[in-house]
Amino acid sequence: MTLRPSRQASSPIKVSFEFFPPKTPEMETTLWASIQRLAPLNPQFVSVTYGAGGSTRERTHATVSRIVTETHLKPAAHLTCVAATTEEVDGVIRSYWDAGVRHIVALRGDPFAGIGTAYEPHPGGYRQTCDLVAGIKAIGDFEVSVSAYPEKHPEAASLDSDIDVLKAKVDCGADRAITQFFFDNDHYFRYLDRVRARGIDIPIVPGIVPVQNFKQTANFAAKTGASIPDWLAARFEGLDNDVETRKLVAAAVAAEQVIDLVDRGVNEFHFYTMNRADLVYAICHLLGLRDQSVKVAA
Ligand code: FAD
Repeated sequence: MTLRPSRQASSPIKVSFEFFPPKTPEMETTLWASIQRLAPLNPQFVSVTYGAGGSTRERTHATVSRIVTETHLKPAAHLTCVAATTEEVDGVIRSYWDAGVRHIVALRGDPFAGIGTAYEPHPGGYRQTCDLVAGIKAIGDFEVSVSAYPEKHPEAASLDSDIDVLKAKVDCGADRAITQFFFDNDHYFRYLDRVRARGIDIPIVPGIVPVQNFKQTANFAAKTGASIPDWLAARFEGLDNDVETRKLVAAAVAAEQVIDLVDRGVNEFHFYTMNRADLVYAICHLLGLRDQSVKVAA
């Protein structure tokens, strides 16, 4: 591993950015400042999450619609099967189509009663993600992304059965998978080998989370089945009250990770931005991405 791109990516680096819909006017201001900062990097798409249990249906729609009307970016709306009938979900899909949205990130979603409880499909709803993928494709010519879990989804009995679920989503029309975040790149490459051996040939785009707050990231990782290597915990040790150093360490950690991925042939990345631009912008800069609006103006 080296901190300079020792090997050029085989093709140009492509990035996408994930945001969540804001709850308050202050959060809205932060989100839009971040979108404006990252937009000139010319991402492939920017995605907007759908709150657990569909709790942000209107806010997700409002954020996605604002991206369509106020920017040149291509938005992708996350959508889950949870707590809604097929008709209700189809209504959301149609409203995205009518708003000019052409990309949906299709998910099953977490159990309505919370992570760790048993998942019960809504009696009148889509039962599983592959059905949702097929439903979306039946409504319009959408691009559809789905999730993938290099370290296995916590509910899956085995990595192989998890890959069966991914295969079903691909067979229903998924065009791309975005992974849960991970910190040990070997997990990603081992997973990729198994996915390709299973005959799945869509892009499996690594999801990268810059560690804005180590404690929060570790808590979230414990729920989602992502492991925290000891070396990562050691790097953030003693920095709980030292925001500035934490930021520098976070940038170094994420830079190491993405440059190692580039060195090993990866050229597509999805960043979990947490609605903050600074770390992501710096990492994209290291990846060689530059402000396209400056180039256009020159
Ligand atoms: P799937 O990949 O469809 O399934 C995950 C696992 O569930 C399977 O591996 C299996 O163990 C079990 N399972 C599913 N179907 C079957 C079946 N037919 N038989 C047996 N077992 C089955 N959540 C949100 O609420 N909103 C979001 O916006 C959101 N965005 C996300 C974006 C990404 C990139 C990722 C990786 C996750 C996101 N999540 C989001 C989290 C996701 O909703 C949860 O991880 C959820 O528990 C599983 O949804 P999924 O689509 O990943 O499930």
